[in-house]
Amino acid sequence: MDYIGQTEIINEFRKGIKHDSLSHAFVLTGERGIGKKTLARFIAKALLCTENGDVNLPCGYCRACKGFDENVNPNFKVIRSDTKNIVIKQIRDLIDDIGVRPLKGRKVYVIEDAEKMTVQAQNCLLKTLEEPPVYAKIILTTSNYESLLLTIRSRVIRKNLKPCTINELKLIAQKKEIDLTGKEYILSLSRGIPGIALQLLADKDFEEIRNETLKFLFDVNISSKLYFNQYLSKNKNAFDVCLSVMESVYRDALLVRCSLEDGLINSDKKDNILKYANMHSTIDITEKISRLEKVRNNMMRNMNYQLAVDIITMV
Ligand SMILES: [Zn+2]
Repeated sequence: MDYIGQTEIINEFRKGIKHDSLSHAFVLTGERGIGKKTLARFIAKALLCTENGDVNLPCGYCRACKGFDENVNPNFKVIRSDTKNIVIKQIRDLIDDIGVRPLKGRKVYVIEDAEKMTVQAQNCLLKTLEEPPVYAKIILTTSNYESLLLTIRSRVIRKNLKPCTINELKLIAQKKEIDLTGKEYILSLSRGIPGIALQLLADKDFEEIRNETLKFLFDVNISSKLYFNQYLSKNKNAFDVCLSVMESVYRDALLVRCSLEDGLINSDKKDNILKYANMHSTIDITEKISRLEKVRNNMMRNMNYQLAVDIITMV
């Protein structure tokens, strides 16, 4: 298993492991779908790898790595919740477990979606986070860093994941054996977020949703605007694709307004994009992008769906 992307963060960890100079607690932050949990596991595996030769960690063949891949490495624990909260009991179990010294090497704990910890759970974790046993490392992941208690934030080193390049997305798709023939442009719609790219590639209704969204944007007829509002109201699962397509058109229109027409995502719709860019000012388009970003963020906080539809279909 090799991790694709985030080379800067991985190199920092590899260097830190080699010199045994790493801090004891980290938080991996970044948008949902960007690969935080996978990266946390990859780093954990590297931390537990017992190979000391001159290879990139994790080696993948030592006993610790093999055990890790089979989910039986006793020095690795994941704390997570499929429901709303990570509760204090789960943190107490972590504290009990962390006190038990491993036979050799390190122990690594990953707390997934750390923002799910209740305030009590976060408070319970504080002391351990500040001063865990020397052999222990704790890695938190969250797409909502600001919602963690300040006292938690001040005790962990933050590593923010960057969007992937198109090339990295291609490699990720290849690794998952996805045929990209004729679909490569879909990768550009994902803003470098692998989770979104994979979701768009897997969506069999992608073409239909894209066409409906483009019709809404390019057709000046007011009835098509109303129609699209109703279409989205009835098709909640079309919303994410629609947002990605809208954003890509807005960004394309901005490029046109800056005379950078070569980098268009929707190059197959160039004529429409040119017309759209002529009809809208740069300020107008920038406002549309920030409106869309606000809706995207609020949707994560359970914004009312119809309200979201009404906002993004505002003319
Ligand atoms: Zn290894």
